[in-house]
Formats: sequence, C-alpha cells, structure tokens
Amino acid sequence: MPSQSMLVTKPYLPPIEEYIKKLEKIWETNWLTNNGPLAVELEEKLQEYLGVKHVVLVSNGTIAIQLALRALEVKGEVITTPFSFAATTTAIMWEGLKPVFADIREDNFGLDAELVEKKVGRKTGAIMPVHVYGYPSDVERIDEVAKKHGLKVIYDAAHAFGVKLGDRSLLSYGDAATISFHATKLFNTGEGGAVVTNDDKTAAKVRSLRDFGYEGEELAVVGINAKNSEFHAALGLCNLPKVTEAIDHRQFCAKIYDDHISQLFGVVRPITPAGIDYNFAYLPVMFESEELLLSVKSDLEKAEVFTRRYFYPALNTLPYVKYQSCPVAESVASRVLCLPLHNSIGVSEVLKVCEVLKKSLLDQQPKRLVGMRPWAVDSGYPWSFRNLKEN
Ligand SMILES: *Cc1c(COP(=O)(O)O)cnc(C)c1O
Repeated sequence: MPSQSMLVTKPYLPPIEEYIKKLEKIWETNWLTNNGPLAVELEEKLQEYLGVKHVVLVSNGTIAIQLALRALEVKGEVITTPFSFAATTTAIMWEGLKPVFADIREDNFGLDAELVEKKVGRKTGAIMPVHVYGYPSDVERIDEVAKKHGLKVIYDAAHAFGVKLGDRSLLSYGDAATISFHATKLFNTGEGGAVVTNDDKTAAKVRSLRDFGYEGEELAVVGINAKNSEFHAALGLCNLPKVTEAIDHRQFCAKIYDDHISQLFGVVRPITPAGIDYNFAYLPVMFESEELLLSVKSDLEKAEVFTRRYFYPALNTLPYVKYQSCPVAESVASRVLCLPLHNSIGVSEVLKVCEVLKKSLLDQQPKRLVGMRPWAVDSGYPWSFRNLKEN
C-alpha cells in the first residue's frame, strides 16, 4: 500500500470527536433526513461563506446539474464543454437533452465564448460551461452570448468552491451554478452537492424537485428524491470551518510546485490570473505531448506517486455522443495530468513529486537544455501558460 498522501487527492476528514458531537445532535432529535436542522444550518453557512443567495443542498453534484436543467425548463440542445468530468455530459443526456460541444480555450480550459456563439441554433436551450480546476470560465462573454440569444446559462461549478472574481463569488454567475461536495472535492460532505442561484423562483423550484415535487403538502410537479441526509450535513458542518486554512495550505504547496516546474522543459503550469481568489482545487500540469505525459506518469508511478488524467478522454469522443471535432480540447485532454495536492499533503511529499518529475523529464529529453523551441500559449487573456524559463 503506497503512502496515502501521494495519491492525487485525499478526502478531508475532521477530527472524529467533532463529528461525534454532531452525531449526538442527530441522536437527540432523531431527525435523519428530510431537510433536517443540520442540512438547513449547512445551507445557511454555505450561503454566507460563498456569498450567494440560495444554496440548495442535494445528494450529489450530478443530480444538481439535472435539477438545475429541470428547474430552468431547458429544452433541446445544451452547448457544453468537451473538457470536463463525464458527469457534465451524462447529466445533460439523462435529462433527455442533447449535448452540443463547442471547443475550449487553451489558456483557461473553459468554453470559448466565440465558438459557443457559432454553435447556437434554433434548438439551443442553454449553455453549460465548466470552471475547470476552479479557473473561471469567460463568464462575462458567455453571459453576453446567452442574453443575446435568449439562452439559459448553468455553470457546472463542481471545482469552483470559494473562488471569487474580484469581490464577486464565481458561483453567482449564470441562471444557476451547480457544485459537488463529493469526497474527492475541495470541500466535502462524503457525497453531496448543491444548486446555487440568486433567483428565488429557481431556488424554490429546485427545493420542490429534490423532494418528490412537493410544494407544501401538495404534490405539484414530477420530482425526484435528491435530498441529502443529516449525516452528510454533519460532516459538512465539521469541514466548512477548515476550508480557508486548507486553501492556504494548498496555495503554499502549489507555489512549491510552481517554483520547481518553472525550471523544467516540456511541461507548464497555468498562471493563476490576477484579480481572482483562487481555491487551488487541483494541480494540473500540461505536457508538450501525450507521449511525454505517459512516460512521466509511468515514472511517477514507479516512485509510488499516483496522478490522474483529469480529464481524459475529451467528452466529445465518448462512444455514446455524436462526435463533433474539438481539436483544442482533444489536444489538451491528451496532455494534462493532475499531480497530488490535498489538504494534508506534506511539503516533503511535494518536493519528492517535483524531484521525480524533474528526473523523469531530464531522462526523457536529455538534449532539451539547448536549442529548444520554447513552448508557450499566450493569447493575451488575463492568464496564460508559459514556461517561466523563456523570460
Ligand atoms: C465531480 C464532478 C461532478 C459530479 O459530482 P458528483 O458529486 O460526484 O456527482 C460534475 N462535474 C464535474 C466537473 C466534477 O468534477
């Protein structure tokens, strides 16, 4: 069994005594689910922490997408990104809607608003971008395109917990945003998720939909059971006060990674844009080629460092969707790797990953130190990838 902290992510658990204290409350009230006091308290605390009007707690981040699509009565086609976790696409399809893929921008991993606009057609009902790794999508431009064509926007913000653009929560953009509190995410409740919205009507609809379609005592609409339990809420209430500190620790570790990786050839790190409060949810690196990625990944594994290809393959290539060419996403998906980063990773472990990475890259490309063509993407966007070495 490898040392746990060298896994790409590790679920955060609070001290068990803190969780037991919350459990005692559940035993006192004998209230296990159905919008109990702990779930309500967590919703309120999340609203405050995230700076949004409504957080509607649900059982996971996938059903959150489905409920948002239903609550907003989206029909027809949804223009979405090929560079995400499969749930973004499958949730759309599970609702009987058709995903239409627009390509991404290489500099922020998110949907390219200009390409989105080109895909808008008669049947388009909504746009579903993803803030991949917590990096903000081009929200202003996407919202503009949506307004112009009368479309709904639902952000799959599964990675965007706590991210702010200026003073504004990234989760407050669009008609709704969805988030996941799965064990592997920055903030977790074991299983869980939420629909976030500033619109009272949308929030009320999601509340009804998650609870079999009840509106008060009346069964008003076709709902489903997407409630979350008091046990999950209890875990969330224990974990929430630790999030700020966890983000600081991740930032500290990311800086160490950046300092080392900026000295290497053949691999780059995204530059965190100015003016955002980033959450360091993931530690993606991008290689020049898939071949290089595979060799390095295998070297890391030999050293018991376990990485993940978030997100591979590109979703437009899945066997159950209609293939639509997205060359940027297909290329990025083949070259991105996420390195270990979590709330309890140690500095010595980060240094070990960096050391193995460096050795592997030198082994793979021994002649790389001279006469290389610096590899860079610079689109003039607020953030871009660059190999610091070339400056
Ligand atoms: C994790 C994730 C989801 C799904 O969340 P679950 O809570 O696991 O259902 C959806 N979209 C993205 C981008 C994710 O990373």
